[in-house]
Amino acid sequence: MAVFSTVDFADHEQVVFASDDKSGLKAIIAVHNSNLGPALGGCRMWPYASEEEALRDVLRLSRGMTYKSAMANLKLGGGKSVVIGNPRTGKTPELLAALARAVDKLNGRYIAAEDSGTSVEDMKFMAQYTPHVAGVKDKPTDGGTRSGDPSPATAYGTFVGIQAAVKERLGRDSLEGLKVAVQGVGHVGLDLARQLKEAGARLWITDIHREAILHAARELDATVVAPDAIFGLDVDVFAPCALGAVINDHTVPQLKAKIVAGAANNQLAEPRHGMELMRRGILYAPDYVINAGGIIDVYYERVGYDHAAVKRHIEGIHDNLMEVFVRARKEERPTGEVADAIAEERFRR
Ligand code: NAD
Repeated sequence: MAVFSTVDFADHEQVVFASDDKSGLKAIIAVHNSNLGPALGGCRMWPYASEEEALRDVLRLSRGMTYKSAMANLKLGGGKSVVIGNPRTGKTPELLAALARAVDKLNGRYIAAEDSGTSVEDMKFMAQYTPHVAGVKDKPTDGGTRSGDPSPATAYGTFVGIQAAVKERLGRDSLEGLKVAVQGVGHVGLDLARQLKEAGARLWITDIHREAILHAARELDATVVAPDAIFGLDVDVFAPCALGAVINDHTVPQLKAKIVAGAANNQLAEPRHGMELMRRGILYAPDYVINAGGIIDVYYERVGYDHAAVKRHIEGIHDNLMEVFVRARKEERPTGEVADAIAEERFRR
């Protein structure tokens, strides 16, 4: 299996293959870049069809974390780990312990957090074997405490990011009467929708999970549409908060929204779709810039959690996006391309 010559290899500093006979652990940990600090990133467990697929995923995702943290002005590098296996059947305490020991051997160069297939509870369990896990501590808020789950922070950052996009594309400071289509009302989407409603927006929502959508519709006084109908709505903002690759050849021609701004990771199926959005006059808030609230939240857990400081830092997503938007406008380039350039300037400095 090639490593250095795969397309997803991007000068990664360190790639570690970890295995444990007894528990059946097969994991890959990738540290993409640690110029700005330790490489923090989620630990994904997935029944990958092949080892090559797992390697590609960890290389791509760890690189993405470098860009996300640099863009969010955090003293963090980019890393990720993947475990090859089915999280429903293969995630035993023995396997998590072996994974934690593998993380520990990197002496803090990589810090693990929850991701698809792992949970806050799994990270708490791993914390018995290594201090190098994040997203595990309860956090003080305005009115009490909340769990390590970063979703509320991600939702708030996305809300702030939508305000920036609305300012740039529509020239408005207020969200009153703004029409927003939210795809996916899970942890982030529901919280975001609540904030949008509070700010006076009108909502259209969809989800494949029937109970989630009925519950959300009642609470938000939102119009429910079928999953396929969310793209073509005559709204101001389309907020993808479900899954990746939703901006693709099939959906772009349907979009009537003037702004695409949501929390989902990897929204563009391919970079050329960013160019296509620009060509159509649709402002795209690059996903890893607008959804950085979660990583900001996790970062503060490690350096000392101060609710007000976290909130201020998340609100910086507004200025980060404005910098991207203004530069993209001046240089007539897609926003995703400009965001990458700014992130690279920050982590290569
Ligand atoms: P979640 O699983 O809680 O919610 C996703 C929701 O989308 C679910 O309710 C699901 O039923 C729905 N969904 C799935 N496929 C759909 C489809 N085809 N059409 C409509 N709805 C669909 O996940 P989450 O934590 O809310 O995260 C949402 C997105 O944001 C993901 O892409 C995630 O990677 C990204 N993200 C989350 C965080 C975080 O802090 N949770 C941080 C950064 C990025």
